[in-house]
Amino acid sequence: PSAVKDIVLELPETRWSDIGGQQSVKQKLKEAVEWPLQHPEVFQRLGGQPRKGLLLYGPPGCSKTLTAKALATEAGLNFIAVKGPELLNKYVGESERAVRELFRKARAASPSIVFFDEVDALGLNREGDSRGGGGNSTGVLTALLNEMDGIEELGNVMILAATNKPEVIDPALLRPGRLDYILYVGPPDLHSRVDILTIKFRKMALCDDVDILELAERTEGYSGADLVKICDEAVLAAMREDLKIGNVKWRHFEEALQGVKSVITPDMVRRY
Ligand code: ATP
Repeated sequence: PSAVKDIVLELPETRWSDIGGQQSVKQKLKEAVEWPLQHPEVFQRLGGQPRKGLLLYGPPGCSKTLTAKALATEAGLNFIAVKGPELLNKYVGESERAVRELFRKARAASPSIVFFDEVDALGLNREGDSRGGGGNSTGVLTALLNEMDGIEELGNVMILAATNKPEVIDPALLRPGRLDYILYVGPPDLHSRVDILTIKFRKMALCDDVDILELAERTEGYSGADLVKICDEAVLAAMREDLKIGNVKWRHFEEALQGVKSVITPDMVRRY
């Protein structure tokens, strides 16, 4: 059994405009990734050093994956996504082989982004992985570090990693030249929630009585994923009421709000 067959090249279609809020994250990524690619002469003349690895961290459902995809689309990069735990294989040597294969594909598809979701799963063996499961995470980590350190000669492959648990990331991954640019992708504030709902509402048939600001105000602590879920639940509530209904009404959002609770707890939010 091989994890390698799961590695597929994607052509994401997500644009920056599909992501509500997160203005500062978008701007930083434009500067760090798009500018050097779009203006290589200027960047080199000024002595810029291209970023090889970036880490996005923050609570679940707050657009880390969406951001990675949008960056690939907007910067014109091929996209290969893999989840940390997928690379863990109980057969000796298999996980390391999967990592090498992953990077071989990424180099062949360069300029490209390798997106490592749940990167915290790698390297936990060093501290004793309480989850067990038999995965050889230290071996995967070593293979990954080898590939990262070799990237300079090995072409235009950028690594984007994501985690909900930055505190358990192996420090070796965060050294200079590796994942040394770290961005917090936090839960949406009121204005961002309005933005996210606006994007979602474009695809919905809504009654005039739906108050976007009130919905945004009542969803403090909700992630972008939670907001999308509320809208989807409201659609179902409307259909449940009447299959011939013409649009989704405020009362359906009221119903959805009862069912969908925020999953973001205070300890997930970065304290300044
Ligand atoms: P996880 O840590 O659980 O992997 P994540 O931070 O990677 O979460 P995404 O997968 O990017 O979160 O978001 C999940 C879904 O939530 C998206 O596909 C999208 O539908 C919605 N979503 C989240 N944030 C936003 C946003 N800022 N704008 C629009 N949609 C959003």
